[in-house]
Amino acid sequence: MIPIARPLIGAEETALVLEVLNSGQLAQGPRVHEFEARFADWAGSRYAVATSSGTAALHVALLAHEIGPGAEVITTPFSFIASANCALYVGARPVFADIEPDYFTLDAEQVASKLTPQTRALIPVHLYGQPCDMVRLAALADRHGLILIEDACQAHGARLGDRPVGAWGTACYSFYPTKNMTTVEGGMLTTNDAQIAERARLIRDHGSRARYQHEMLGFNLRLTDLQAAIGLAQLAKVDAWNKQRRANAAYLSSRLARIDGLTPPAIRPGATHVFHQYTLRVRDRAALLPRLSQRGIGYGIHYPQSIHQQPLYQSLGYSERLPQAERASQEVLSLPVHPALTQADLDCIIEAVQAVPAVALPGS
Ligand SMILES: *Cc1c(COP(=O)(O)O)cnc(C)c1O
Repeated sequence: MIPIARPLIGAEETALVLEVLNSGQLAQGPRVHEFEARFADWAGSRYAVATSSGTAALHVALLAHEIGPGAEVITTPFSFIASANCALYVGARPVFADIEPDYFTLDAEQVASKLTPQTRALIPVHLYGQPCDMVRLAALADRHGLILIEDACQAHGARLGDRPVGAWGTACYSFYPTKNMTTVEGGMLTTNDAQIAERARLIRDHGSRARYQHEMLGFNLRLTDLQAAIGLAQLAKVDAWNKQRRANAAYLSSRLARIDGLTPPAIRPGATHVFHQYTLRVRDRAALLPRLSQRGIGYGIHYPQSIHQQPLYQSLGYSERLPQAERASQEVLSLPVHPALTQADLDCIIEAVQAVPAVALPGS
């Protein structure tokens, strides 16, 4: 079996976790602060605020920027649902703009067509580890005075030119086990704005700076020292893992590029894609899936349904059509690309995919 994702936990993680367990200081404490400082440095931001999940980081980001009822937040319909739900959490309205078919990320032109006087923020998602078109999205945000919150939950270490993702606005990361690095559950908010960082720290911890003094309404959205210990060990390895992900993706694409009915992932010019997922478009996905299963190759469909078509959003009255996102959800297929794959694994994946088109893909 070749799994679609595999968290890599080594001796460093184990040693640091045991050290925390034996220290008696388990919840948010010195390890969380150390993880925040190292992550900020690594991500190229001035401040980092650790949270209990990527979803929590998004929630905190919207609250810290004072986005609430009456506000519209433009985001992508083609992502994990948290990218949009964070707007609902604060009483704002998610507005969906369609995606660029080549990169599966928010289309700046479509965003422009969704602007209203109520638009307060943009949440671009660096999907699969591919940086969004931040040059155009940031220009749009700038022109219209919009807050930029980058959902970098799949894009730790991705760059556009020399600039790391997350450097355009407030950014949110996830450390769920399938992500490019993990703390089991966990997240991080990064920003260059001291005031946003301070508000985020308060919101994550019951609005409290000093024990039992509560300045504002907050939540318990803290990371623990136990999780931060894992994160510190992972942070030291994530660059090497990302490099391996890129190499695995390049190898897969070199072998899969000429198969009729398959479109390997495009990389945005100038971008460093960190391949959280290696996602192809497949003309006849249904024909390929059984073949992968038979050979024990894990796969994922990210995502089988656009957010605007989820029952939750249908129940909220979302009825518009977003053709590019809807088409992508019918065609995408993610194959394993994670750094634990061996050369034999990669060849096995390629062989399974190559075996299909002649028999199964129409028009080939
Ligand atoms: C994983 C993910 C999230 C949420 O992160 P959690 O840590 O699972 O809460 C948000 N947005 C995107 C794009 C994600 O992939």
